[in-house]
Amino acid sequence: MQPWIIGAAILACLLLAIGIAARFLPRAELPSRSSRSMGGLATVTVGAAYSRRIDSLATQVQGIFERLELELSAYRPNSAISLLAENAGVSSVALSEDSWRLLNLALRFDELSDGASDVTVAPLVKLWGFGGAPSLTGIPSEEAIRERLSFVDSRRVILKDRTAFLPVKGMAVDLGAIAKGYAVDRGFDLCRSAGVEDFLIDLSGNIRVSGRPQWHKNWQIGVRDPFDRSNLIGTITLRSGLALATSGNYERFVEVMGQRYSHIINPRTGLPVTGTAGVTVLCEDATTADGLSTSLFVVGLKGCGKLLQKAPPADVLIVPDKYPIEIWLTRGFAEVFVPIPELPNAVRILTPTSL
Ligand code: FAD
Ligand code: MG
Repeated sequence: MQPWIIGAAILACLLLAIGIAARFLPRAELPSRSSRSMGGLATVTVGAAYSRRIDSLATQVQGIFERLELELSAYRPNSAISLLAENAGVSSVALSEDSWRLLNLALRFDELSDGASDVTVAPLVKLWGFGGAPSLTGIPSEEAIRERLSFVDSRRVILKDRTAFLPVKGMAVDLGAIAKGYAVDRGFDLCRSAGVEDFLIDLSGNIRVSGRPQWHKNWQIGVRDPFDRSNLIGTITLRSGLALATSGNYERFVEVMGQRYSHIINPRTGLPVTGTAGVTVLCEDATTADGLSTSLFVVGLKGCGKLLQKAPPADVLIVPDKYPIEIWLTRGFAEVFVPIPELPNAVRILTPTSL
């Protein structure tokens, strides 16, 4: 037999083997690195073709997350965010380019949502035992809530020449609603500019994908059941570049006398939000997905139509906090979401009239 025929046959076998291996390679076996960041888990996964670059890429993405955490964490005494609170009513604080950009973005979401999200909600978040504050031993008094509410209004934040000033002592900023999405976008930019096409970045459920995990496959993400964390309610298929964020009342909450209180606080009432169990947002960038998921969690099913009309284009999945489970989806979300077979009657479409 001619040597070129043998060569071609070997090559054909190899290609077939690679094709089969790639198609059946589960995501868990893709090159992936995880580390702790911003109080949660950060994972970088790459497509099989980039396996040799996973260590260096994950280290660089982690480097970005660490730098942003140092600047933005309310849990770290020397972060820009802690300095802002420390200098409230006294002086302005110079911000890095990232802190400046992010604070401006957060304020834009606050305006867009008519104050449903509010970056100055920090004193209330702490009152309810979140954001590094001591755990609750009882429900905060009405008087304490009223007092903290007087510090909450992001329209009072003064931004000028890359400095920020909180005009009243007691005011503080909390970027927890949006910072992880922003960090994921910075990680995404880094991977793309390093020439990596196929990857997924996940920072505690704030996810953005590029390319594909394997030949002929798309990235697939499970959506957790807000009522049973060990279960999924369905799976989403993500096309390249898209981002996903989820806000829920099941990961972070406090329980006082058998009652569960969410870490997302209504800045108008000062009370933890009720009525929504989970919101997942699908859109073009992770910062928007993160910012919108928190705002939509506050306004719930009733307010989501108004907010979505004003917001950058996004598709959403909303699970109200009631039994039996209902999964409300915009049409765009329904196109990429497959519910588990056990929930055939739970899915409802958010139409312009229901919005
Ligand atoms: P999201 O819905 O995206 O955000 C909810 C968070 O936003 C709340 O936890 C609160 O912080 C804030 N918030 C509540 N209500 C409102 C509102 N109405 N408007 C605007 N914001 C609101 N946790 C730790 O336990 N240890 C840490 O060391 C730690 N470090 C962190 C460092 C950084 C830079 C960040 C951003 C967060 C850190 N966290 C830490 C917090 C933790 O990861 C939060 O639970 C997280 O930010 C909440 O995000 P989420 O995606 O679960 O919910
Ligand atoms: Mg958010």
